Amino acid sequence: MNTDANGKTMRILISDPVERSLITGLEEKGHLVDYRPDLSQGQLTEILHGYDAVVVRSRTKLTSEVLHSGQGLQVIGRAGIGTDNIDMGAAEDLQIKVVTAAGSSTDSVAELNLALLIDIARRINFLNRQLREGKFVKATGTEIFGKTAGMIGFGRIGFQTANYLKALGLGILAFDPYESAELIGKVSGKYVSLDELLEKSDFIFISVTISKDSGEILGEEKFGKVKKGAILINTSRAEVVNLDALVKAMRDGRLGGYGADVLWTEPPDSPLEKELISMDNVIITPHIGAQTNEAQKRVAKMTLENMLKAMEEINR
Ligand code: NAD
Repeated sequence: MNTDANGKTMRILISDPVERSLITGLEEKGHLVDYRPDLSQGQLTEILHGYDAVVVRSRTKLTSEVLHSGQGLQVIGRAGIGTDNIDMGAAEDLQIKVVTAAGSSTDSVAELNLALLIDIARRINFLNRQLREGKFVKATGTEIFGKTAGMIGFGRIGFQTANYLKALGLGILAFDPYESAELIGKVSGKYVSLDELLEKSDFIFISVTISKDSGEILGEEKFGKVKKGAILINTSRAEVVNLDALVKAMRDGRLGGYGADVLWTEPPDSPLEKELISMDNVIITPHIGAQTNEAQKRVAKMTLENMLKAMEEINR
């Protein structure tokens, strides 16, 4: 059995589904891996104290209570980017290192943004559903060429989405507290206030990173500023949009369509979420932004590298 740089075997729990290469990569370095992708929150709290490290995706919630149950836990590997399912404050207090695979799924999520937009603009999913029910109906769609896209959050995914959209002939506006002149220059875009973005954009994309303390970005007042008939796409986190205000904006036609890869509860269980999902001009996928062969391989590789580095540092 190999061991890591300092010869210490770590006991690692993987509590969400991951690529096989991440498991074998850790094992090849001599670590003991328990792969339990279906573990419930209750089971997790019971067994976490037996591990030095844990690897999660977005399903497992590493709350303060869970983290406090894991005496001896030294490293958390997040096989993805968002850390809103991890209580980062508690992890810091407990001196647990958190590593992510930031950037590994950017292209996959940006492509999904594009797919959702074109699907809604041309009503593809809606018309396909009609055809399956034996109805050969036509619906008039919207071209995206020449329109304006507004990016709320202009980091990796926001930028890459804008990059694709620019190539398709759209103008780009962006709102982000961190403004990079270099990035916006690459898409010949312009940073604007959130209100200006909402007023001027035909298509609005939300690609923000949030923490568990982040507030709402789009509530009733902001929906009132949205250009009538705009299409909203959110592949980042549902919590930044107020569900009641969104459903109202869809019901009264303020929004022309809504596409998302994220929900307030996953799987959805509230009547409002179910109403939203059933609307004709809404398409919601079950958090599959990073679910491509290519992204999963990159996520596994980066999580493995970052976990090994963190564990080596701890044992130094
Ligand atoms: P990133 O860190 O590169 O970029 C996020 C940007 O959001 C940053 O530039 C930040 O300044 C900006 N931002 C933060 N709060 C903001 C606010 N209130 N208003 C405007 N901008 C704000 O992150 P990324 O790699 O582009 O990922 C973006 C989001 O996509 C994350 O929430 C991540 O969890 C999510 N994501 C989803 C999937 C999926 O499967 N659907 C996969 C990967 C990432």
